[in-house]
Amino acid sequence: MRPIRYLGDPVLRGKTENVKKVNPDIKLLVQSMFASMQKANGVGLAAPQVGVNLAIAVIDIPGHLPFAIINPKITKSSGKRIVENEGCLSVPGYRGNPERSVEVHVEAIDLDSKQIKFHATDDLLAQVLEHEIDHLNGKLYLDRIVDMSSMQKLNSMNWEEND
Ligand SMILES: [Zn+2]
Repeated sequence: MRPIRYLGDPVLRGKTENVKKVNPDIKLLVQSMFASMQKANGVGLAAPQVGVNLAIAVIDIPGHLPFAIINPKITKSSGKRIVENEGCLSVPGYRGNPERSVEVHVEAIDLDSKQIKFHATDDLLAQVLEHEIDHLNGKLYLDRIVDMSSMQKLNSMNWEEND
């Protein structure tokens, strides 16, 4: 498992490179990302959060089997909404209300190098896809907070519930 990087670590602000080939090293990296995400009780984790500047994220939300997205791109997004109580494993102890798209279309490849597509509207999947793909572009949910007074500091008991 790889340790999670926190706000202030420059790797979180860098751009990522696309994966050229889903080889055994990439598959091992993805396995370690799943383990790190699950240990931290997260719903998503992007490679920069474990110090790797590749375009890979893993997602684990209710109603879906855990899955990886490699070289994901938002091909279309529309609408705006304020999402409440979003968190991030790289910003432990805080939550806030970022502005997000209502609808997102995403194309990526999976661990078998097969093309996968998502179309999510106004739900947790849309939120998490956008959150993780933001990470791959050096962006954090903090950058989408319109009303800073929505930021809340949690007590330490809740730290592990961040996504
Ligand atoms: Zn995050």
